Amino acid sequence: MQVQTRLPQVGTTIFSVMSALAVQHRALNLGQGFPDFDPPAELIEAMAQAARDGKNQYAPMPGILPLRQAIAEKVQREYGATVDPDTDITVMAGASQAIFNTVLGLVHPGDEVIVLDPCYDCYDPAITLAGARAVHVPLDPQTFAVDWDRVRAAVTPKTRMLFVNSPHNPTGALFDERDMEELTRTVHQTGIIVLSDEVYEHIVFDGRQHLSVLRYPELAARSVVISSFGKTYHCTGWKIGYAVAPKVLSVEVQKVHQYNSFCTFAPAQHGLALMLRDHPEHHQGLGAFYQAKRDRFAQMLQQTRLGVLPVLGGYFQLVDYSAVSDLDDLAFARWLTIEHGVTTIPLSPFYAEPPKGQRLARLCFAKSDATQIGAVERLSRL
Ligand code: PMP
Ligand code: GLN
Repeated sequence: MQVQTRLPQVGTTIFSVMSALAVQHRALNLGQGFPDFDPPAELIEAMAQAARDGKNQYAPMPGILPLRQAIAEKVQREYGATVDPDTDITVMAGASQAIFNTVLGLVHPGDEVIVLDPCYDCYDPAITLAGARAVHVPLDPQTFAVDWDRVRAAVTPKTRMLFVNSPHNPTGALFDERDMEELTRTVHQTGIIVLSDEVYEHIVFDGRQHLSVLRYPELAARSVVISSFGKTYHCTGWKIGYAVAPKVLSVEVQKVHQYNSFCTFAPAQHGLALMLRDHPEHHQGLGAFYQAKRDRFAQMLQQTRLGVLPVLGGYFQLVDYSAVSDLDDLAFARWLTIEHGVTTIPLSPFYAEPPKGQRLARLCFAKSDATQIGAVERLSRL
């Protein structure tokens, strides 16, 4: 049978490819971004208790009310944003589904959507499936800062949406006040909707603040802000995330969500609602928790010939391997897994057009000390 693909550019995601290679070669997997430690015990217990208590049938379409209320309280406390839990919050199957439902609900065929490269790999396919065109604007290849003049130059009458992501995967870059001013200027008096991917919102280092779009009323009025409990509570496999957006935007996201699954895993929603209510210290301490891991890992990496790039947020360390190898990044990642037993993620799959000669690999430092030590031991033999 001849099938006409809707996604001609898409193969198997780099995360699946590298994780499978890691298993095949028994490598330490610092590629795909997931912690190798457990979620908080009280969260697991609350989720299990909810299942034992019979919370096993469909949740309401936008998510259970106590969880939406807890999210509304959190964004009020952290970002000074007043959002209505009845209309402005939708709980979905991870940030991934939130991104897809947002794009499918709000982007029309023939539209243009601006993404900033390198960017998370599900953005482009979501845009393509909506019948729109992704317009890729590169970040600065050295600092990964946004060139806002270039973003504005990419805006046309067809631009429906602009994706931003801070803290940034894969580079660890972070928006500052100037970025927020430039973002505001870029979308001011346009019809552009901002999709702000803030899944690493609580993982910010060195006393810096996460500048959520929700802190800025003019931006919040035209934005869908997406987060993921997977990152905040070390439970990436639970696939629970959410979108916060004004009612006019949330209605369109929910029109898709109500058919694309309707609701997500109810026991975890109950567990997370309790966790947010009873343990705000968990997300408030997450920056310090991961900063210690970042620092330990970066310090140990000094024993290797890998160059360590600055990380301001998120849980990925970029390393420059040009002193070690001249292979391109895909070949280097394969070689490192097969020959040295450490799995990384190459950066080129995050670009429409990777910068020529870039020799960077992404390592996830959301790992136990033992995993970090084991990986650095192997990397120091390079
Ligand atoms: N956006 C970014 C920037 C991510 O890094 C990830 C996952 N690592 C996602 C979205 C998807 O999150 P989830 O696993 O909750 O679907
Ligand atoms: N978001 C994770 C990362 O960047 C991967 C998620 C996935 O495997 N799709 O590593």
